[in-house]
Amino acid sequence: MSQKEFEMYQQQLQTAIDEMSIDNKEAVYDQLKQPNRFFEVSFPVLMDDGKKKVFTGYRSQFCSALGPTKGGLRYHEGVDAGEVKALSGWMTIKCALADLPYGGGKGGITVNPKELSEGELERLSRAFVRAIHPYIGEKWDVPAPDVNTNGQIMSYMLDEYEAITQKQDIGVFTGKPLELGGSLGRTEATGYGVGFCVREACKKKGLDLKGATVVCQGFGNVGSYACLWLYNQGCKIIAIANSRNGLYNKDGIDIPELFKYYEENGNDLLDFPGAEYLDKDKIYDIPCDILLPCGLGGAITGENADKIECKVIGEGANGPVTPEADEILDKKGVLIVPDVLANSGGVTVSYFEWAQNLEGYYWTEEEVFEREENLLVKAFNNIYDIYEKENTKNMRSAAFNYAIKRISEAMKLKGWI
Ligand code: GLU
Repeated sequence: MSQKEFEMYQQQLQTAIDEMSIDNKEAVYDQLKQPNRFFEVSFPVLMDDGKKKVFTGYRSQFCSALGPTKGGLRYHEGVDAGEVKALSGWMTIKCALADLPYGGGKGGITVNPKELSEGELERLSRAFVRAIHPYIGEKWDVPAPDVNTNGQIMSYMLDEYEAITQKQDIGVFTGKPLELGGSLGRTEATGYGVGFCVREACKKKGLDLKGATVVCQGFGNVGSYACLWLYNQGCKIIAIANSRNGLYNKDGIDIPELFKYYEENGNDLLDFPGAEYLDKDKIYDIPCDILLPCGLGGAITGENADKIECKVIGEGANGPVTPEADEILDKKGVLIVPDVLANSGGVTVSYFEWAQNLEGYYWTEEEVFEREENLLVKAFNNIYDIYEKENTKNMRSAAFNYAIKRISEAMKLKGWI
C-alpha cells in the first residue's frame, strides 16, 4: 500500500489541476504534492515482559495555508511514511472543501494494537506524545482518532501533553470523551455524515432511500453508524463484512440488533442470528443500490471494480477506490461520493469540538447534528454543481478542484506561490 497510496493522491491532484483553469498550475502542484512538514520518530516503550521495544511513529503536517493542520492518528501494522503522507494530503482537501478553517494532517504508529495490553497501549500513546509534543498544539496541529484509536487514547495523550506543557489546552486533541471536553455526536459523526451524503447522491440518481439495498464493507465506527443512519431512513442493509467475517440477509439486517450483538460478541459479526454467513471476500460480488466501502484503503481496484453492481458509492474509508477502479466505475455510471466529502463528517464535528473547547461553551446533540447536516449538504451540492457545470471527470475531481482553489488563494496571499 503506502507509497502507492501517496502516488494515488498525487495522481488525483494532478488530474484535478489539469482540468482546472487556474494560474500557476505548476507551482500549485509543487506545493501540494508533498507535506510542508513531516516527522518520523522512534521511541522505546516498556512492555509487560519487562523488555523495551522500539516503535516508529509519524506525523505529517501537510499544508497549513488555511489554518492549523488537522487529522487523525492511526495505529496499524501497515502505517508507514507513504500512507501517512497520502492520508494527510486527503485531509488537506477534505478540510478545504468543507470550508473548515484548517489545513490537513495525519499521523500514526506502526503497530498492531490488538497485540498490546491496555498498559502497553497507554505507555505507547504517552511515549508518542513525548516524541511529537513540540510540533503539535491547539492552534498549530490538532490530532484526533483514526483507525484503531479512540477517545481513551486521546485521553492518555491529552494527559501526557498537559503534564509536559503545564497547560490545559484541551483543544489540542479532538475525539475526546465527553468528560474531557469531547463533543456530543462526535462518535456517530463520520457514519452519519456518510448517510447525509449518500442521501443527497440518491436524490441526484432519482433513487428512493426507502427500500434501497445497501452493502457495507467495514463495521467499525464509520460503517456501523452509516448503516444505522441508512437503516433508520428505511434502507435495507443486505450485506456487511468486516476484516474477519461477513453477513447476508436479502430482506435486510436489523442494525440496532446487530449493534447489541456486535458489542456482546467481542466486535465479531460471526453467528449473528439475523443473517446468513458470508465470506468476507465475497462482499463486493453482491449487487445493490448503495455500496459503502468503510474499511481500509485500496479495497476496490482495477481487478474487482468490473464485477461491482451498484448505483451510488459512499466512500466511508479513506482511499478505498483506486484511480483504475474510478475509471471503470465512472464508465458504468456509478455516482461515487468521494472520501474527502463522504467521510468529512468526522473532522467537521472535530471542528465543532475544537470550537466548543476554545469557547468553553457546549452545544446540544441536536445542534451538533443539525450543523453537521447543513454543512455537509452544502458541501455536497457545491461539489455536485461543479461536477455538472464544469463537467469535471467525476465528483472526486470536482472536490479536489474546489479545495485546490481555496488553498491556492490562501497560498497566494501568504506569498507561497
Ligand atoms: N480520522 C478522521 C478522518 O480521517 C477524523 C480526523 C479529525 O477529526 O481530525 O477524517
